[in-house]
Amino acid sequence: MATQKTATKEKISQSDYTSLLELSNYLGLDAVQFTKKMEEEEQEEREKMQKGFNSEMRSEAKRLKTFVTYKSYSSWTPQEMAAAGFYFTGVRSGIQCFCCGLILFGTSLQRLPIEDHKSFHPDCEFLLGKDVGNIAKYDIRVKNPEKKLRGDKAKYQEDKARLESFEDWPFYVHKVSPRELSAAGFVFTVEFIEARRV
Ligand SMILES: [Zn+2]
Repeated sequence: MATQKTATKEKISQSDYTSLLELSNYLGLDAVQFTKKMEEEEQEEREKMQKGFNSEMRSEAKRLKTFVTYKSYSSWTPQEMAAAGFYFTGVRSGIQCFCCGLILFGTSLQRLPIEDHKSFHPDCEFLLGKDVGNIAKYDIRVKNPEKKLRGDKAKYQEDKARLESFEDWPFYVHKVSPRELSAAGFVFTVEFIEARRV
């Protein structure tokens, strides 16, 4: 599974060293050295943290709540961060994507959280709009599968057809096996993350 990334030692630097050098010359102090040291410490924290998909943080509202204790002079709002897939880790100013596990410490006046997310992890399946189980804040799920299911009823009388309906069974519903469900007479309706008896 592409999102199930194991611990990697990827280096993330959000700093623009060219402008830091200019700033150092202007202020007469070494902003480059200071930032390098800070980034090294952040890198150490990053390597200690849990990696990969975090099913617990699929809900945008839940991610937003984690920012209650977020104390930072950030130019990013909690709303922007939660919408971009991030939740607050509680370690320094670290925020992490629930899907790809990207951890960011810095915020940028020039860029939005979604832009930094894209530039470091363009392959994040949440960013690519795939069904990774994100529950958007304003996501309203209309439950009306009756019409479709009535037509499919005959088709799904066979176990093989029912099993095939689970082709798109989301990987985050890992506790239930499609084989057991189809044998018990269930089909998977892709509109909703639920199984229905036919
Ligand atoms: Zn991500």
